[in-house]
Amino acid sequence: MIRTHLRYHRPDTPDDAAALLAEHHGRVAVLAGGSQLLPRMHRGEVDLDHVVDLRGLGLRAIERTGGRVRLGAMVTYDDALASALLAEAVPLLPRVARGVTGGRQLTGHATLVGALCHAFPGTDMPGALSALGATVELHGPDGPRECPVDEFLLGAQSIDRRPGEFVAAVTVDGVARSGYCKVKHATGSWPIATASAIEDGDALTVTLGAVQARPLRIVIPDPTRSAVDDAVAAAVTAPWTDVLAPGDYRARIAPVVARRALTELREGAHA
Ligand SMILES: Cc1cc2nc3c(=O)[nH]c(=O)nc-3n(C[C@H](O)[C@H](O)[C@H](O)COP(=O)(O)OP(=O)(O)OC[C@H]3O[C@@H](n4cnc5c(N)ncnc54)[C@H](O)[C@@H]3O)c2cc1C
Repeated sequence: MIRTHLRYHRPDTPDDAAALLAEHHGRVAVLAGGSQLLPRMHRGEVDLDHVVDLRGLGLRAIERTGGRVRLGAMVTYDDALASALLAEAVPLLPRVARGVTGGRQLTGHATLVGALCHAFPGTDMPGALSALGATVELHGPDGPRECPVDEFLLGAQSIDRRPGEFVAAVTVDGVARSGYCKVKHATGSWPIATASAIEDGDALTVTLGAVQARPLRIVIPDPTRSAVDDAVAAAVTAPWTDVLAPGDYRARIAPVVARRALTELREGAHA
C-alpha cells in the first residue's frame, strides 16, 4: 500500500510538466513506467505528495537527428527491440534490451530513460548509454538543457537534475559495430559487471558498467588479451561494492567481461 496522500498529474506540455515539478519540488517525482518508483513508494522509501506522469507528452519516438539517433524519454525496452532504426544504426541498444529480465510485464512499460534516471550502478542502461556517448536532453522551467551522460550520472543513484527538470530524450551516436557482455549470479539478478565494446573507425573502447559507481570508458590500445587486461586493470581504481559482490571481485572479473564484449564485437554477433 502506498502510505501517503497523493496527487496524480498528467500534463500535456513539457512546460506544464516543468512548472508542476518546480512548484512541488522536494515532494514530487517524475513517473515513467513506474517499475522502480512505484515499488519504492509501496516500501515507504520515498515520501511524496505528487507524481507527474510523462505519458501525456508522447516522448516515445525513436528518430534520426543529423548523424545521431534520438530516443524519447518514454521509449520502452519493447520499443527498442521493435525499432528497425536501432537495429540498423545502434544495435547495442536492442542487444542490451534483449537481456533485460522481468518479462513482457516489465519490458512493455519500463523505459530506458527511467533506468538511466534511477542510476543504480548495477543496471545495464547507464553503461550502454555512456558507451554510445549519449547526450541527455532535459526540460525545465528555463527551457531545454543538454548534458553529456557522463556528467549527468553523478554517482550511485545520483543524477544532475535541477529543480523542475525532467529528461525529455537521449541522443546517441550511430554505432554499427558493438558487442555486449554482462555477468550476474542468476538470470533474474542484477548485473555484477557489464561491458559495451564499441568500434568507431580505428578507435576501440570498452565501457564498463556496474563495476564502479559510474560507468567507466576505457580506450583499448590493442585487442590482445594482455593489452585489454592491463588497460582494464589500470582503469578500475574504485570498484563498487554491494550485497551481490565486493569491489575486489568486480575488479577481478572486469577484464573477462571486457574481453567477452570485444569477442562479440569481433565476431559480429549482432553487427
Ligand atoms: C522485475 C524487474 C527486472 C528488471 N531487470 C533488469 C535487467 O535485467 N537489467 C536492467 O538493467 N534493469 C532491470 N530492471 C530495472 C529496469 O531497467 C528499471 O526498473 C526501469 O527501466 C526503470 O524505468 P521506468 O520507466 O519504470 O522508471 P520509473 O520507475 O518510472 O522511474 C525510475 C526513477 O527515474 C525517475 N525518472 C523516470 N523517468 C524520468 C525522466 N524522464 N526524467 C526525470 N526522472 C525520471 C523517476 O522519478 C524515478 O526516480 C528490472 C526491473 C524489474 C522491476
